[in-house]
Amino acid sequence: MRVHIDAPPPPAASDEACRADFGKLFLPGLLVSDWTSDRGFGDATIGPLQDWPLSPFAAVLHYGQSVFEGLKAHRTADGRVAIFRAQAHGERLARSARRMGMPELPVEDFVATCKAFVQHQAPALNATDAMYLRPLLFGTEIALGVHASSSYRFAVMGCIVGEYFKTGGAQLRIQVSEKYVRAAPGGTGCAKTAGNYAASLVAQAEAAREGFHQVLWLDAVERAYVEETGAMNVGFVAGTTLLTPPVGDTILDGITRRSVLALAPALGLSVEERRIKWSEVEERIVAGEISEAFGIGTAALIAPIGELGRGGKVVRLRGGEVAARIKAALRAEQLGHGAHAAEWLTFA
Ligand SMILES: *Cc1c(COP(=O)(O)O)cnc(C)c1O
Repeated sequence: MRVHIDAPPPPAASDEACRADFGKLFLPGLLVSDWTSDRGFGDATIGPLQDWPLSPFAAVLHYGQSVFEGLKAHRTADGRVAIFRAQAHGERLARSARRMGMPELPVEDFVATCKAFVQHQAPALNATDAMYLRPLLFGTEIALGVHASSSYRFAVMGCIVGEYFKTGGAQLRIQVSEKYVRAAPGGTGCAKTAGNYAASLVAQAEAAREGFHQVLWLDAVERAYVEETGAMNVGFVAGTTLLTPPVGDTILDGITRRSVLALAPALGLSVEERRIKWSEVEERIVAGEISEAFGIGTAALIAPIGELGRGGKVVRLRGGEVAARIKAALRAEQLGHGAHAAEWLTFA
């Protein structure tokens, strides 16, 4: 895919760490490639960030064909900018698109467009912050009627980001969802698609009213097994074992989670990937066997959990040492100091 440049580079960033809320400090550029059935994905253009004219009949507004990615780029010690696991994110966008009946952007085009966008926007990134890329694909056909859109737009936008959770260093309070479910077998839980988040927001809001930061979802069938949080996979530490539920139909295959599993042996952790009942988690926390729990995802990397509440009952965790070591190992990989740099980094 060819990428045309039709925007000036952004002004150079200051050295000061970003204090804006996550997702609010937009990069000034925008990459767009439109898909039509006769041509496929057309050439991409990086232009200035601007609003799109939008028909009220646009397919995505009514039937929700929208899939996205979230990945990060950092400045490495030598001043270059490295995108973390672009290939894996491209593969997941293609899987999400397939699940939603949308055209798959070839992975090499995903990597090439992210690379071109990051290269162009690089002056906006200082040595401490991260560039959060948001590739997006959505249906643009202008017509009513429930069917797959006949045209699509792929775009890459981005933000400069600092820390995701503004908890002032406090650990997360998580509510185990009782009333709602996120994903059912055969559903869309394995796709990073807009509707999954829309469906979760009311649970998130209810949890927030009770003082929780996030919801931990249980499986839809038995309402017994731990799945994941709103936009993070979840892990538990028991001794030197890292416990995490297996991804699949109902649990998103997080790239950060995959990276953690790859790094675990070098950190002295053995991995147990299996279905885990909430009752087991609760009992083993109370018994002092599970010492740590954390969310795992691109935005926060590793987000230590201090409290898990269900139905008025709360269990507390105090640890954080293993979480901190895993986070440091991930950071090292993102900055090119890790053992997987050659495999995981794409330099813009
Ligand atoms: C994005 C996301 C994750 C984390 O995936 P990463 O690739 O690690 O960022 C986990 N669960 C859900 C539902 C997500 O949307």
